[in-house]
Amino acid sequence: MNNNGHQHKEHSCSCCSHEHEQEHEQQHKYAHIGKCDCCHEHEGDDRKKDVVTMAVSLVIAVLAFAFSHISSVLSQVLFLFAYMICGYDVLLSSAKKIVKGKLFDEQFLMSIATIGAFIIGEYAEAIAVMLFYKLGEMLQDSATDKSRQKIEQLISLAPETARILRDGHELSVSPDDIVPGDTVIVRAGERIPVDGISNTDAISLDMTAITGESVPQSIKNGDRIFSGSIVQNGVLSLTATKHYCDSTVANILEMVENAIDKKSKTESFITKFSKIYTPAVVALAVLIAVIPPLFVGNFYEYLHRSLVFLVVSCPCALVLSIPIAYFAGIGACASRGILIKGGNYLDALSKAETAVFDKTGTLTKGSFEVTDIILSEGVSEKQLCDLAGNGEAFSNHPIAISLAKLVSSDVHSVSNQKEISGQGTVCTLDQKTLLCGNKLLMNQNGIYEIFDSEGKTAVHVAYDGKYMGCIVLSDVIKDDSKKAIKELKTLGIKNCIMLTGDKENVAKDIADELGISDWRAELLPSDKAHELEKIKKTCRGNVVFAGDGINDAPVIATADVGVAMGAFGSDAAINAADVVLMKDSLCSLATSVRISKSVRKKVVANIIFILLVKALILIASAAGCDYMWLGVFADIGTALIATANSARILKEKF
Ligand code: ADP
Ligand code: MG
Repeated sequence: MNNNGHQHKEHSCSCCSHEHEQEHEQQHKYAHIGKCDCCHEHEGDDRKKDVVTMAVSLVIAVLAFAFSHISSVLSQVLFLFAYMICGYDVLLSSAKKIVKGKLFDEQFLMSIATIGAFIIGEYAEAIAVMLFYKLGEMLQDSATDKSRQKIEQLISLAPETARILRDGHELSVSPDDIVPGDTVIVRAGERIPVDGISNTDAISLDMTAITGESVPQSIKNGDRIFSGSIVQNGVLSLTATKHYCDSTVANILEMVENAIDKKSKTESFITKFSKIYTPAVVALAVLIAVIPPLFVGNFYEYLHRSLVFLVVSCPCALVLSIPIAYFAGIGACASRGILIKGGNYLDALSKAETAVFDKTGTLTKGSFEVTDIILSEGVSEKQLCDLAGNGEAFSNHPIAISLAKLVSSDVHSVSNQKEISGQGTVCTLDQKTLLCGNKLLMNQNGIYEIFDSEGKTAVHVAYDGKYMGCIVLSDVIKDDSKKAIKELKTLGIKNCIMLTGDKENVAKDIADELGISDWRAELLPSDKAHELEKIKKTCRGNVVFAGDGINDAPVIATADVGVAMGAFGSDAAINAADVVLMKDSLCSLATSVRISKSVRKKVVANIIFILLVKALILIASAAGCDYMWLGVFADIGTALIATANSARILKEKF
């Protein structure tokens, strides 16, 4: 489901007609929604220039009209002049495209329609059409820009320079030059360039840009720190653990950029549709102009009708407003700490009817408290805790992270560390095998005599083939899990299912507490993927799976929409997921479903609205109300209304 086969396509930008080659590709991620960066820079100037040329052209056209009673030649020359002033760029750009063999876009339609109008003597109409067309383009550009800015706020997550400490001196370097192990200094108000470990206490970080969470996070010495957040007070010193290109910020940026490139099904349908549609329309227009005059009426009348038909049929309203809806949806999500890897996943989310959750770290906090320690004979509590702490020190699992805190002073050197998903860890400590994990892990290693933890989550410890005892743990449900599940249900998610590797009893308690009626326990990560396949077969609609990404990357990849939550730093999860929730809360999932439904609603409304208006105008023009400018007005008007409708997504509260 994860499509990494990123295509390189040639973008052409609507304002400069550059054909952007690969080296330009980076700068032109937005090309398909209108403009590229190089043009974007000159945008303000361009717009002023456009307004001036349009005004000049309008004045000349009015003069031409006034002169038409005095001298028709002078008036015609003035009309031609006015037409050329406002339309030369459209004509030039479609001429260039014709040379390259790229016919049939809206500029081409506008060019032949207005040239045609000119030939049949409808000068004022030709100019009106061109003026309306350009006005519409301008207004649409400004709507597109607004959506763009939202995304750009996100892109500005990356700081341009960073300060590092080398040989006691502070150096200013590019974030790309930071290597793991470097000491990075970040002052108040600055953005953190790379992921690392804090060397400073009592620093508070503003993570709004990444998680959408406005409550500042306080950081202590030794805490993991993610790039992209802003230091609010004091000076933070951190030891880099990653290169810039592997850090959270770079991951986020890459994801958003790819998302914009990846078209939704509806979008690609519209693109394909217009590739067939436009030539078909041109062919029909030719027929309208040629066939009826052979039998009835005069040629000019039908030529005019066919030109009106061309203008009305221009598909630009669809081609523009649909991508903007998805774009705005991705932007709206991004500003709330929800990263969606493409418009297609917004589509898929909007059609989801089943949500499947992992338990630990997803529904529950994944920060375990020790509730009981049961010791084998001759083993001290300190001994057991040290073993468990050492055995779990290398693992990323929430249980391991909670247990690693138990180690007292004597940290041993462990080797041959291995994590067995859904079971626990195995390593060698002082040349002897240390096992920490559940009953299954013990049994598989020939240890059957173990304590019963009475249905609670427990980590059993065996060292050198001898059972040492177990640590009983309890996890707490996240504050907002219950609320999120309720919300998902009201959003049309009919089935909520929990999959867990934990014991039946633990699973049941949590499912009951959360109002989840369907749950499956004691599953290994591979079983979870199987279960999900089964669920996909039996349930209608799309299946969303949300996991914390620690060991459920395969399950995330199996789902119609795979969601990784709180996935900072877990590269596997970020790669496998289609949606990444930066905030560690399932409410973000409900928000993303809500946004996806709103996008869907707007896309459908736009398509219906545009097609309806076009049909009406076509009927009107067939009935004799065949003013070309009315056609353009309708086309630009619908495009604007539809675009504005799409852009509303950015303003809505979700
Ligand atoms: P969940 O499905 O609840 O997210 P996991 O699949 O991550 O749970 O783990 C399932 C079970 O495997 C845990 O309840 C625990 O008993 C055991 N386990 C997994 N990893 C570890 C570990 N690092 N240390 C100890 N036990 C572990
Ligand atoms: Mg888990």
